[in-house]
Amino acid sequence: MVVPYRHEPFTDFTVEENRKEYQEALDYVKGQLGQEYPLIINGEKVFTDDKTVSENPANKKEIVGYVSKCSQELAEKAMQAADEAFKTWKKWDPAARANILFRASAMIRRRKHEFSAWLTYEAGKPWKEADADTAEAIDFLEYYARQMLRLKDGIEINSRDGEFNRFNYIPLGVGVTISPWNFAFAIMAGTTVGPMVAGNTIVLKPAKTTPVIAYKFMEVLLEAGLPKGVVNYIPGSSAEMGDYVVDHPRTRFINFTGSKAVGLHIAERAAKVQEGQIWMKRMISEMGGKDTIIVDNDADLDLAAESIVYSAFGFSGQKCSACSRAVIHQDVYDEVLEKVVAQTKELTVGPTYKDNSNFMGPVNDQAAFDKVLDYVEIGKKEGKLMTGGEGDNSEGYFVQPTVFADVDPKARIMQEEIFGPVVAFSKAKDFDELIEIANNTEYGLTGAVISNNRDHLEQAREDFHVGNLYFNRGCTAAIVGYHPFGGFNMSGTDSKAGGPDYLLHFLQPKTVSDMY
Ligand code: GLU
Repeated sequence: MVVPYRHEPFTDFTVEENRKEYQEALDYVKGQLGQEYPLIINGEKVFTDDKTVSENPANKKEIVGYVSKCSQELAEKAMQAADEAFKTWKKWDPAARANILFRASAMIRRRKHEFSAWLTYEAGKPWKEADADTAEAIDFLEYYARQMLRLKDGIEINSRDGEFNRFNYIPLGVGVTISPWNFAFAIMAGTTVGPMVAGNTIVLKPAKTTPVIAYKFMEVLLEAGLPKGVVNYIPGSSAEMGDYVVDHPRTRFINFTGSKAVGLHIAERAAKVQEGQIWMKRMISEMGGKDTIIVDNDADLDLAAESIVYSAFGFSGQKCSACSRAVIHQDVYDEVLEKVVAQTKELTVGPTYKDNSNFMGPVNDQAAFDKVLDYVEIGKKEGKLMTGGEGDNSEGYFVQPTVFADVDPKARIMQEEIFGPVVAFSKAKDFDELIEIANNTEYGLTGAVISNNRDHLEQAREDFHVGNLYFNRGCTAAIVGYHPFGGFNMSGTDSKAGGPDYLLHFLQPKTVSDMY
């Protein structure tokens, strides 16, 4: 028996002791910057000459690490190692597999601020956001380990006289995990250990800008007793080796989190049956979002403003759950807009690796910086710029939190994922129109309704078509095991990370009917 799952508590940074400990962790990580990291294939460290340079997005000159880049040839070795390891790993007692996750979780918890500090350096995360990312990584380990224990004996089915029927789950094979930079620890860890605890073996291709935190996680898994070849760490370029492992005939499934464009590219490749391939690959994807908070005329307007501001600008809007559309009932539109603009003007932007004084850090890299500022220019034509709109990339990639008002619901900044600190406001005449606008994108990830009208909340429960719908709170910050996460339509396969069905995506049920 294991103790019931509860999510990892967040650190209270109003407590001086906690701030001091985080600062110490930052100092420690600073002393570790600039090292070289190998690939890990079949438990062996493999250094390559070709390196990815991971930089601190808040201070471009500071190198977080030089990470070996996987070639096609090495990717083939990793695939073979995973294929070989599968033969024994799939037969491990699921409880023993789960124990590796429990051990890894305990090890991370002991060094929690150190991992968060890596996220502050490598992903530019403010302390609170880094702390939540590490807590979520711990949660995924704890939750999926327990889910495996729940599934390990299969599910009871009927048997007639003279027959004994069993229904059990068995793993699939070798999976490719392609993980994002925005939850560089949590999602990378969750999308690796979910399939892994289910008995599959993995080649892990972490995001280009955040490979070091993924390496630190690999160290933990190996220290926790993970056998060689079960997870192979192979950062590298999509064109050089990403496509290669997706196409590989021994790849059984792909677990992808990232943009819609990349997700669709992978889905198309994965659908093609390669020579020697004897299965249809499964694709599990979490892609983009264009998430809306709607505000009713009967609503707590302070709550509305706070929810919009935090959901739009937490981690600089670089969450697929981020609120990038605020759709407001005409009766309260001016008031909500005014409150949001006032609160946004109070937010500070700057480095977060020095201290905890800035609400927002940098965006991910030059490409993200350019993309966000391009959308700001588009926004200036499509709406009224109320605040923000400026960027400064002289030291790091900083963009001011930006609010556009009076935007047409069909405008580009109301339809396309920006993945930065930009929120657009539209007005609706009644609740039906609020819902209609909320649903008028190709995505369907998160959404929130701020209302005191129970009829309207029940209407939204049915009609607001998103995978994660929240009432009277913001639309980010889903918690593993409490708010299983994933979306509809172009947001992906709605695989619900951190949910009770997640592991089933990486298992296949087998029925054995035994006559006696
Ligand atoms: N699960 C995160 C949240 O609820 C978002 C994940 C993502 O951005 O990919 O905010």
